[in-house]
Amino acid sequence: MKESMDLDWQVCSRARLSRDARFDGKFFIAVLTSRVYCRSICPAPTAQEKNVRYYSSAAAAAEAGFRPCLRCRPECSPGTPAWLGTPSTVSRALRLIADGGLADGGVELLAERLGVGSRHLRRLFLQHLGATPSAVAQTRRMHFAKKLIDETSLPMSEVALASGFGCVRRFNAAIRKVYHRTPTQIRHLSRQTVIPAQNEYFFRLRFRPPYNWDGMLRFLAPRAIPGVEEVHSGCYRRTISLNKIPGWLEVSLDGENDGLAVRVQFSDPRALYTIIERVRAMFDLNADWAAIAQGLSADPVLAARTAANPGLRVPGCWNGFELAVRAILGQQITVKGATTLSGLLARTLGQPISGPGGLTYLFPAPEVLADSKLTGLGLTNARSETIRLLARAVSDGRIAFDGAAGSDEFMRRMCEIPGIGKWTAQYVAMRALGEPDAFPSGDLGLLRALSLTSPRDLEQRAETWRPWRAYASMYLWSAATVPVARALACRRDS
Ligand SMILES: [Zn+2]
Repeated sequence: MKESMDLDWQVCSRARLSRDARFDGKFFIAVLTSRVYCRSICPAPTAQEKNVRYYSSAAAAAEAGFRPCLRCRPECSPGTPAWLGTPSTVSRALRLIADGGLADGGVELLAERLGVGSRHLRRLFLQHLGATPSAVAQTRRMHFAKKLIDETSLPMSEVALASGFGCVRRFNAAIRKVYHRTPTQIRHLSRQTVIPAQNEYFFRLRFRPPYNWDGMLRFLAPRAIPGVEEVHSGCYRRTISLNKIPGWLEVSLDGENDGLAVRVQFSDPRALYTIIERVRAMFDLNADWAAIAQGLSADPVLAARTAANPGLRVPGCWNGFELAVRAILGQQITVKGATTLSGLLARTLGQPISGPGGLTYLFPAPEVLADSKLTGLGLTNARSETIRLLARAVSDGRIAFDGAAGSDEFMRRMCEIPGIGKWTAQYVAMRALGEPDAFPSGDLGLLRALSLTSPRDLEQRAETWRPWRAYASMYLWSAATVPVARALACRRDS
């Protein structure tokens, strides 16, 4: 297996020798003498350069016959960033794999969903990640299994199922082969101190510093849907539902470890992989800050803002449908008005649940809103109809938020629904698809922040921000006096 051609040997070497956390997960270090692969931050004594190989993904190192290091735990590194030059097909495929996309259909089906040939997809993966899609999926499964062994007290039979191994025998064999230890021996090595309540799990998810957690909460707090989500004492909480099973989760900063602490309450451990991957996407943990700051530095306004306030991320969402409905409800009203209205919608049509704090409802599912009259909410007929049509399109599968369609195709389908215009489609693409280059080009808040008057001028100015226009938007919004200037936007959809 070839090492990746995207890696710059000197950059990797410097990052390795200085144990630079900003490079964590951007490449992996394989040591020829120990046959182990490590993160850039590994605390073990550094090997000599001549005994080291660099790989752009954990899967590539694993394919080349190296084992994950038990000290730095490659399974804990932040995910592979979408970097400059990676075709969007690769990022979209990684998203689908993270969402369990390779679980039932294999590479053929994955390629079909992405609209490319499977040989082409394999070639792209080998070129950019140094490993095939199935090797990437396999490594992720192995890493997640290791995380469950280390960070939870789930019985091994449940760990096997939750990490997609199907049966305990295969799971045991795979773990022993990779780690040269049994799952039970590995669990003894981990120092678990907290005994969680039943169906409750704690995870630590790493990011590449800096991470502007306050900026993230400042964006999420005014938009938190009452009953469904809340921001409280530096912590974000929300209700969740997967395969019709309700639960909740709570996320806070673990600054000492360059990570987020996540507490999940959910009765089916098989959903943990999806839940954790969604949390990672929601809090933009794959972001490569160094590359973003560098990319935005050509614009003097953004260069000043990124330097003054580093580490801002693009807030994703738990559920693309919920985000889209909220964006429609927010058309032509204030952020506060939209939040109140969304809370009323959840209270009227959502399923009651008893969570911690103020968590009392699940956001209504598409099937519910598709058949609802949406009366008593004070919506115009046209707006109710837009929400119903969106809900129907989502429950029929015509619109999906998994990123399989690519953002242009996604926005085209969104705009086919009467009442959804370019602004709403772009805003939803930016937050729900994790597309780093998506941004609402007609947003008045962005125009004002740069003293521009036409969307065309904004689009032109934004050319230098590519492929990080979503991050540029976050910086411009965060500095605006009126948050996102929703109430005043003249070019918004109606
Ligand atoms: Zn290591």
